Amino acid sequence: MLFTDFHTHNMSAPAGSAIVSLPLEILLSPETFEPSDGASYSAGIHPWWTDGDVDRMFVGLSALVRHPQVVALGECGLDRLRGASLELQCAIFERQVEMASAQSLPVTIHCVRAFGELLRLHKRLKPATVWTVHGFRGGPQLARQLLTAGMDLSFGLHHNAESLRITPEHRRHFETDDSGVSLAEVLRAAGL
Ligand SMILES: [Zn+2]
Repeated sequence: MLFTDFHTHNMSAPAGSAIVSLPLEILLSPETFEPSDGASYSAGIHPWWTDGDVDRMFVGLSALVRHPQVVALGECGLDRLRGASLELQCAIFERQVEMASAQSLPVTIHCVRAFGELLRLHKRLKPATVWTVHGFRGGPQLARQLLTAGMDLSFGLHHNAESLRITPEHRRHFETDDSGVSLAEVLRAAGL
């Protein structure tokens, strides 16, 4: 079975093997986006960037989400430990979910200590496209809640083995994120 690296910040990942999350500089200056042939990207306003020039980020993002090689919106979401207030983060996230729905793009979620809010938002917004929680390290109880709500999960090198086990194969992804390890190592750690 062939796996795609579901979420990485490695801009030189071989084309076709990964979904590369675009850095802040490209969001702020989308004209500098130089996609590699055959590569796939995601673009989104990271919760950590929400205390920056968000208006300008949205201008960049609305151009990037129309690019045919941008296949997902993200990472975006909620982080209780960094970025703007959770209230503002929710508003910025909600706007991105609307963009994702309008462009029929799935959403890659970054969520730190805000899963209650995330579940509430999912229930209220009833998004038209799938949300995948990336870098999921939570236990099986939280995994089950997210899966039941309709969200998919993406696992990195460090993850809860039981959460991985209970996630149906077609709703389970693997990623290297910013770890620097190879996807093969992640898959090995997952017992694949
Ligand atoms: Zn990431």
